[in-house]
Amino acid sequence: MPRRKPTIAGNWKMHLDRTKAVELARAVRRGAEALGPGVDVAVVPPFVYLEAVAKELAGSPVRLGAQNVCEQREGAFTGEISAAMLKDVGCSFALVGHSERRHVYGEDDARVAAKLRALLDAGLDAVLCVGETLAERDSNRTEYVVREQTTQALLGVSADEVRRVTLAYEPVWAIGTGRNATAVQASDVHLYLRGLLSGLYDGQVAEAVRIQYGGSVKPDNAAELLNAPSVDGALVGGASLKADSFLAIAAAAPR
Ligand code: PEP
Repeated sequence: MPRRKPTIAGNWKMHLDRTKAVELARAVRRGAEALGPGVDVAVVPPFVYLEAVAKELAGSPVRLGAQNVCEQREGAFTGEISAAMLKDVGCSFALVGHSERRHVYGEDDARVAAKLRALLDAGLDAVLCVGETLAERDSNRTEYVVREQTTQALLGVSADEVRRVTLAYEPVWAIGTGRNATAVQASDVHLYLRGLLSGLYDGQVAEAVRIQYGGSVKPDNAAELLNAPSVDGALVGGASLKADSFLAIAAAAPR
């Protein structure tokens, strides 16, 4: 079974301006080229800077993703952005189910599933984020929560299609808090999710799907997290806004 290549993706959220976004993309591009092909690097800028960043990344190995997508194909949906539009400006994937979309904007599992479907139908890849709140972890419901989120989102997703989905385990209590999951905590959930995929599909599919960890990943905890069993990279928020810290995380991935 070939090793899953780690992916380090930077979610820029609603930060930066056009100049800073392009500068950061340029620095990430240079750093990723120096790292070589053993690790996949991706950036996820705000919608309005996607095109400028795409130009900066043209011909480079750095992948471009969007933070969100509309579940509708096209039409009278003011303020929304379709999967086809994302593809048109150079995205190869988008996030769905990020905890800020679920908890701040009230997106439920049905909406996350519809967004995932829209991406796959448009020929884009998806990063499906799942994770429990602190109250859910404290009441031993972590596995139940990530199982429900994953199973609901993957309803109707074929074995061929799921190979275009990366799971991101992002405990809500670790996102933007400076308190990361330990390598053991992350690994336990990743192994659980891989077992779940094996049941939903089969062992081969489960071994092929990448599962990233996200939640306060920084240069000083990256090596431990990224070398933990079944952790195939990281989705990075705060530390992705500076090229040095983001590239230091990417350099810590096993290659
Ligand atoms: C995220 O928003 O996906 C994230 C992991 O953020 P941070 O790294 O800042 O915790």
